Amino acid sequence: MSTHQTQPLIGLETFSWKKWDACTHCGLCLPSCPTYRELGLETDSPRGRLYLMGSAFKSQDATPLNEEWAEYIYRCLDCRACETACPSGVHFGELLEQARAIYEQNAHRSTSHKFWSNLVFKQILPNKERLDLIFEMMWLYQKLGIRWLVQKSGILKLMGQLGQMETLLPKIPPPRLKYTIQDITPAVGETRYRVGFIPGCIMNQVFTETNLATIRVLAENGCEVVTPRKQTCCGALHLHNGERDFASELAKQNIDAFEDEQLDAIIINSAGCGAALKEYKVLLENDPNYTEKAENFSNRMQDISEFLAEIEMIPPKGEIPLRVTYDEPCHLLHGQRVKSQPRDVLQTIPEIELIELTESDWCCGSAGIYNITQPELSQEILERKMQHIADTEADIVATGNPGCLLQIQQGIQKRGLDMKAMHPVTLLDYAYHGLSPEDWIEFSNNRM
Ligand code: SF4
Ligand code: SF4
Repeated sequence: MSTHQTQPLIGLETFSWKKWDACTHCGLCLPSCPTYRELGLETDSPRGRLYLMGSAFKSQDATPLNEEWAEYIYRCLDCRACETACPSGVHFGELLEQARAIYEQNAHRSTSHKFWSNLVFKQILPNKERLDLIFEMMWLYQKLGIRWLVQKSGILKLMGQLGQMETLLPKIPPPRLKYTIQDITPAVGETRYRVGFIPGCIMNQVFTETNLATIRVLAENGCEVVTPRKQTCCGALHLHNGERDFASELAKQNIDAFEDEQLDAIIINSAGCGAALKEYKVLLENDPNYTEKAENFSNRMQDISEFLAEIEMIPPKGEIPLRVTYDEPCHLLHGQRVKSQPRDVLQTIPEIELIELTESDWCCGSAGIYNITQPELSQEILERKMQHIADTEADIVATGNPGCLLQIQQGIQKRGLDMKAMHPVTLLDYAYHGLSPEDWIEFSNNRM
């Protein structure tokens, strides 16, 4: 007689069986999967992960959701390359996020894991005042030379993963910069469009200049730019880490923040956030109070490159006579299916030389917080990317996502390459405002 005690699985009603059933197990997604390429295991492939989800959830028993099961499910980058490759249209990203949410509801997580997860996802990311304070402290830490002392002292080597995280910390811009973003920025010249803007949470702390550049470029193209203060974190990191209910609450707050604004589009420059914002309509499809509002919100969301490529863009006049290669953020390419627009927009810059990057459609290993949770695999994936980047001999690697910018810049520094990672919109901003390459090289040297 079996002594196995079943534990009823909590949250199973949120799993989209119909979408899971679309998989025909053909395996055509396997050659596109970075973890399968690196590890060669079926359980680290999209098909294998779908099998793991199905077999565990069909049992309606929480026991199979053990650490080994979670290891395969959390080793996925959520890069969604398998979605692009899949001929049956399996929504892998959505199923993965649902599976992680079910796991988090049933798993016996340690007290320290619960503490950190609550602190980061619920107490810090959605709280602008706390985020401001933390990044002001980081700015002071760097500005006052404490970072230099800490790095020289060798203490980081003794701090394990925390020390590793410190080395990933980019140079934080002066905190006052983000307060220069206005609620409403007028168009330059005639107003052709009225658009909303989402500066993001971490994006606005670390890449404030990119946000300001985005607003300037929109204004140059006749946009009045509305940046409502009531908006909050988009919830992308929450979704990737199994905090689906909390992400839904953040989604509602963002939808409400833009509800009363008459806008032609809502613009985002961060690919990871953009993919999550465009999928609010899926996240809230069963919430009768928000189904329609979420659909309306998501349908207005556009990546900056997508918007500029769609309107009659005013071409910039400033020349940037440099070699630029473009790396595709997974959540822009696979999550939003935006491929040609960033290249088209970059091509409007006079004298720019755009060089195609081999495997530009492969993940760089950043993937949200993957470089912190899976540092070794993340570095292996980055190494392959950096070899292709080095082969281009470009001056600039353009990419439209904060995580990818940080990851690639770290790869550039590690290899000692004479290159910079920049958001495409920053290059456009320089071209609109006639900054010379020398000006911006000096600017970005000070910045990085
Ligand atoms: S999301 Fe990326 S890493 Fe995960 S299974 Fe799909 S291709 Fe592989
Ligand atoms: S996810 Fe798509 S490509 Fe991969 S095995 Fe299933 S049906 Fe085939």
